Amino acid sequence: MIPRSVPPCQSNDATEWPAHHWQTALASAIRQPAELLSYLELPESLLDAATAASESFALRVPKAYLHRIEKGNINDPLLQQILPLGSELIESKQYSYDPVGDLDSVEIPGLLHKYHGRALIITTAACAVHCRYCFRRHFPYQENRVEQNWQQAIDYIRQHEDIHEVILSGGDPLSLTESRLKKLTDKLLTIPHVHTLRIHTRLPIVLPERVNNELLDWLNSLPWKIVMVLHCNHANEIDEAVADALQQLHQHSVTLLNQSVLLARVNDNAGALIKLSEKLFSNHVLPYYLHMLDKVQGAKHFYVNQDTATQLINEVRQCLPGYLVPKLVIEEAGKQSKTALA
Ligand SMILES: *Cc1c(COP(=O)(O)O)cnc(C)c1O
Ligand code: SF4
Repeated sequence: MIPRSVPPCQSNDATEWPAHHWQTALASAIRQPAELLSYLELPESLLDAATAASESFALRVPKAYLHRIEKGNINDPLLQQILPLGSELIESKQYSYDPVGDLDSVEIPGLLHKYHGRALIITTAACAVHCRYCFRRHFPYQENRVEQNWQQAIDYIRQHEDIHEVILSGGDPLSLTESRLKKLTDKLLTIPHVHTLRIHTRLPIVLPERVNNELLDWLNSLPWKIVMVLHCNHANEIDEAVADALQQLHQHSVTLLNQSVLLARVNDNAGALIKLSEKLFSNHVLPYYLHMLDKVQGAKHFYVNQDTATQLINEVRQCLPGYLVPKLVIEEAGKQSKTALA
């Protein structure tokens, strides 16, 4: 695809286009509620609430994702994930600003070491899309970015010889350029006990342009096992461009897994979950986790209760081979692992 215009902050060198195209796509993501409603032919009556809700957590949706949403359909499962609603502003009891106890497990700013053998790095605050149910929507990224603390994080991992797997998370780690990613992995390369790199990302789903040659070259250059845990909640999120991106990653020997969040009005029926698993598998991705919603302020309208959730996953289990049934899990602050419900 040829980008339409060159923002002044980007390179003007035409030969650079393929490499930078994803950044242009990222920069041109929709951020104005009015633009979203008008593009999707949705009623203007939604505007006031969308504007108010986007003041507490900004609207952001890349055009590649927007194009998969059916125009005029307020119930579209992809729209539901990105449309700011007035209900986000209702304070709810039992909902918190740090639902999974992240702040208690910050060892070094930007590094979470909650579970044995694995350490998670908050590589960046940036995401290509803002998911309204995000459990980190209130996370104090400003104080917890690893970028100013690389050396401290690396030293911590070096001192903890049980850490065999480093997880790049965020925000979305693939919203960093390859040169920044490479700086980080160059440092990790000096630690002999690290042998797996895991990347938690939604970029290949919401901005498939991100899976370009530069990214694949960087992945190829690494000596570790590479696991990519994607985040896809509905089969409609996988179109041709996403399928191509996944195919590329698969061909480069990346182990592809997916985590979803169980979300009311998005995927809270067995049919949607089954279709999602099948579509993932036909694109070389295995379902990994189906997360119960983390109770973060502003996301209550997405909640599906545990009885319904276990019933749903049991229905899925009756229809699919075991390897296509994600583990239904809940994250509880202070636990040694995520807690399996079914
Ligand atoms: C979820 C999570 C992990 C990864 O857990 P797995 O069960 O291995 O997928 C690691 N660290 C933190 C802080 C997490 O929240
Ligand atoms: S991509 Fe992930 S981290 Fe970013 S807003 Fe969505 S759920 Fe949150």
